[in-house]
Amino acid sequence: MSSVGSEQWTPDSWKAKPIKQDVVYDDPAELEAVLARVATLPPLVAAPEIDRLRAQLRDAAEGRAFLLQGGDCAECFDYCNPEAIEDKLKILLQMSLVLIWGMRLPIVRIARMAGQYAKPRSSPFEVVNGERIMSYRGDNVNSIDPAHRRPDPQRLLSAYFHSASTINYVRLLLDSGFADIHKPEAWDLGHVRNGEIRREYQTIVNHLTDALGFMGVIGAADSRVQALNTVDIYSSHEALLLDYEQALTRPVSKSHDQSPPVSPGRRRPYEPSTPPRKQLAPELCDWYNLSAHFIWIGDRTRQLNGAHIEYFRGVHNPVGVKVGPTMEADELVRVLDILDPLFEPGRVTLITRYGAGKIADFLPAHIKAVQATEHRPVWCCDPCHGNTTTAPTGHKTRSFDAIIGEITSSITIHRGLGSRLSGVHLELTGEHVTECTGGSQELAPSDLPSNYQTFCDPRLNYEQSLDIAFKIAKVYER
Ligand code: PEP
Ligand code: MN
Repeated sequence: MSSVGSEQWTPDSWKAKPIKQDVVYDDPAELEAVLARVATLPPLVAAPEIDRLRAQLRDAAEGRAFLLQGGDCAECFDYCNPEAIEDKLKILLQMSLVLIWGMRLPIVRIARMAGQYAKPRSSPFEVVNGERIMSYRGDNVNSIDPAHRRPDPQRLLSAYFHSASTINYVRLLLDSGFADIHKPEAWDLGHVRNGEIRREYQTIVNHLTDALGFMGVIGAADSRVQALNTVDIYSSHEALLLDYEQALTRPVSKSHDQSPPVSPGRRRPYEPSTPPRKQLAPELCDWYNLSAHFIWIGDRTRQLNGAHIEYFRGVHNPVGVKVGPTMEADELVRVLDILDPLFEPGRVTLITRYGAGKIADFLPAHIKAVQATEHRPVWCCDPCHGNTTTAPTGHKTRSFDAIIGEITSSITIHRGLGSRLSGVHLELTGEHVTECTGGSQELAPSDLPSNYQTFCDPRLNYEQSLDIAFKIAKVYER
C-alpha cells in the first residue's frame, strides 16, 4: 500500500499536491477576498439530500436502479432563465419516464446543471483573428468574448449566485407540481415531429396514467401515487476549480438525520444542515461539498498524486471519475482504493468515455480489474466525449450512431463479463439545436450551421435525447 491517500485530509490538503488545469489570476488578493465571501454564503444543497443520492447510487451499483446524468457541456450564465431550465428539466423527466418503462427500474436523475461552469481545455491558449489569447475556460473564469479572456475572480461569485438561482427555480418547479405525471406541462411532447416516437411515448404515458387511475379506484397505497406527483433531481458539475469547491466544503455533524424522507413528495421539516462551525468537534463531522449533490473529476485531472483526487477523497458526496483510454487498469484500482477506502457500493461512479471504436479495447480490462477487488462502483457510460469529430463545415460534432454504438457496446461488454452498465452520462439540451448529426430527424452534417449554439462540446438536441432514451429502453427490454 502506498502512502497516497493515507495522510491527513483537510479541505485544503489538495494545495500541497500538483494541480492540472489551474487558473492563474492577476490579482491574488482579489481572488482571496472573493473566496472568503463565498465561504460565508449559505450552502446550495443540503447534506440529507446528498445522503439520499448516495443511497440511490448504491442501488444503481447493485443493479436496483439506473442513473441518467445529463446537461450542457458548458453551462453559461445566460442559461439561467426560466425557459432553458424548464426545457432541461423536461427532457430529463421525459427520458427518465421512457427508461423507467423500458427497464422497470427506478431512475436516478442527475442534471449537469446549477454549477457546470468551469471547463478543462486541451490548450490554455488559442489563436483568434491571428492573435494568441487565453482559451475560454468557462463562465466562472472568463468570457467567451475574445476581448474579455482575463480570468476575473468576481466570476466565481457570479457562478455561486447563478447556481443558487438555477437550483432555486428547479426546486420551485418541482415543489409546485411541474413533475406531476397527472399534469401535461412537463410530460407533453410539444413539437416532436417523428410520428413513431410520439406514438410510443404516448402509449407509455397512457399506460402509466391508466395504472394510476386504477390504483386510485381501488384505493391502493397513497404513498405510491404520491411518489408520482414529484421526483428527485440532483445537481452536479465537474469540480475543477478547487478553490471554489473548498469554499463550499462544510462540516456537517455526523448525527444529522440520514434516513431518507417517507417519499420525495413529503419533506421533513427544515433542519439547518450546517450548525455553526464553532460547535462542531472535527471528529464528530463529515465534510460535504454543499455546492452540488454530485461532483466528478474530469479525464484530464485524475492523476493519482494530484490535487483533484486529494480533494475528492475527503468529501462525503458520491463522486464520479471520468475514465478514458489513457487510464491503466491498475491505476483505476488505485483511484478506487483512494476514493472508496470503505468499499461502499455506489460511492464512486466510473464514467467511461472511450469512443465507439475503442471501447472494446479498453472496457473489458477495466471491468476485470475492478471485479478482482471489493469495490462496487456505478458503471456509467459517457458515449459523448470519445466520439467528437469535426464536420466538413468546421463544426465540432458527434454522430448519433457513434453515441448509440458506444452505449450498446458498453451494455454488451458488461453483460458478457457478468457486470452491469448502470447509467449513462450525456451532453444534451432540451432545445432544438443542430450540434450532433443523425437521430430520427436525420440531421446531416450540412444541417449543423442552421442552429449551432454551443460554445464548447456539441449536445444532443431534444429529439435526439428522446431517441437515445427509447434506444436504451429497447436494449434493456430484450
Ligand atoms: C466533460 O464532461 O465536458 C469533459 C470535459 O469530459 P472529459 O473529462 O471526459 O473529457
Ligand atoms: Mn464536454
